[in-house]
Amino acid sequence: MRIAVLSDVHANYHALEATLAAVDAEGADEVWCLGDTVGYGPRPNRCCAIVRERAAICLAGNHDLAVTGALSIEEFNGEAAAAAQWTREVIEPEARAFLESLAPSGARRGVELFHGSPIDPVWDYVLSEQAAYASFQATDAPLVLVGHSHVPLAISWRDGELGGGIATAGEEVDLSAPRWILNPGSVGQPRGGDPRAAWLLIDEEAARATFRRTPYAVELTQAEIRERGLPDGLAARLALGQ
Ligand code: ZN
Repeated sequence: MRIAVLSDVHANYHALEATLAAVDAEGADEVWCLGDTVGYGPRPNRCCAIVRERAAICLAGNHDLAVTGALSIEEFNGEAAAAAQWTREVIEPEARAFLESLAPSGARRGVELFHGSPIDPVWDYVLSEQAAYASFQATDAPLVLVGHSHVPLAISWRDGELGGGIATAGEEVDLSAPRWILNPGSVGQPRGGDPRAAWLLIDEEAARATFRRTPYAVELTQAEIRERGLPDGLAARLALGQ
């Protein structure tokens, strides 16, 4: 089984389409989605429809929960709050029902999935060694997948020691090592200076995971953000990968 792990699509239809074309070209058997399908971006309804159709499992992220009303928009600041408010206004019943059906954590094929982390599946960021250590202590799953930070990450736990860190494009991880926390990065709002959509391909038989990057037409999503009157900073950052 080969699994494409996507996260933080953030209503970026052009990034999602390009990523799924790359996923299909690889012949992946399943797509898993770690949440934040909406928020920030201009195409929430279309992205919900595609993810609902394509993903074998999909989590709820903090932005999804803000749109359904499970979280207050007051918990978000600036551009995130403005985009969440706009998304609440335009979300259609089918997409809303899809988002309402999701949970921020899940499990599939022996792998544990969290939008944030095992410590707090909605809000916690695994971005430090301390956070990774706490997450490894909170579960005994050999493989843990997280999203939320938009930064691709591969952290290992072997003989009581942490290893790894930020994952670069093309980096390959040997999953036969004892334990891993992997973050695929973000499809729809990549951070860390690379504007290409980020995702992860897991090959179960080969016990290997590869960090992938897929270019897409950033300017098309930027135009949609501006057409809808969303904050311009949300368009600008896509070209920078920040
Ligand atoms: Zn996100």
